[in-house]
Amino acid sequence: MPMERTFSIIKPDATARNLTGAINAMIEQAGLRIVAQKRVRITKDQAEAFYAVHKERPFFRELVDFMVSGPVVVQVLQGDNAILRYRDIMGATDPAKAAAGTIRKSHAKSIGENSVHGSDAPETAVKEIAQFFSENEIVG
Ligand code: ATP
Ligand code: MG
Repeated sequence: MPMERTFSIIKPDATARNLTGAINAMIEQAGLRIVAQKRVRITKDQAEAFYAVHKERPFFRELVDFMVSGPVVVQVLQGDNAILRYRDIMGATDPAKAAAGTIRKSHAKSIGENSVHGSDAPETAVKEIAQFFSENEIVG
């Protein structure tokens, strides 16, 4: 198993409900290490750049508005096979379809306000991490 890093966001619906610690506990209990973390408000430009791949989708505007609606916690998670493992820990995009015990099943409000983001591939993980962290802010 490759030691990997993935990029995570605890989204505004979760920070609003004071769930940062509960979500971090689920991440750590699953064996991933939080090697960088900061609470920020992202700008509209940052949200649009981050989700550029979805810009033709009907929910794009709603998604950007949601991501700037409150504070988020951006994180780098590290561990064996971290990218796919974190996708499993998060659960399906739609909480109604997420497996029991996943972050989204436990905490997400809807398919849009779904509490967490996780990178979907090694190339996107590298790009997403670089959008929010410099190398010296990541301490494994
Ligand atoms: P993420 O990229 O945030 O980890 P994901 O990979 O499970 O989630 P994507 O298909 O990449 O899902 O969609 C990105 C985000 O866009 C979703 O997490 C969700 O917040 C939002 N989204 C996706 N589908 C819908 C939809 N049908 N209606 C509203 N928002 C949606
Ligand atoms: Mg995605």
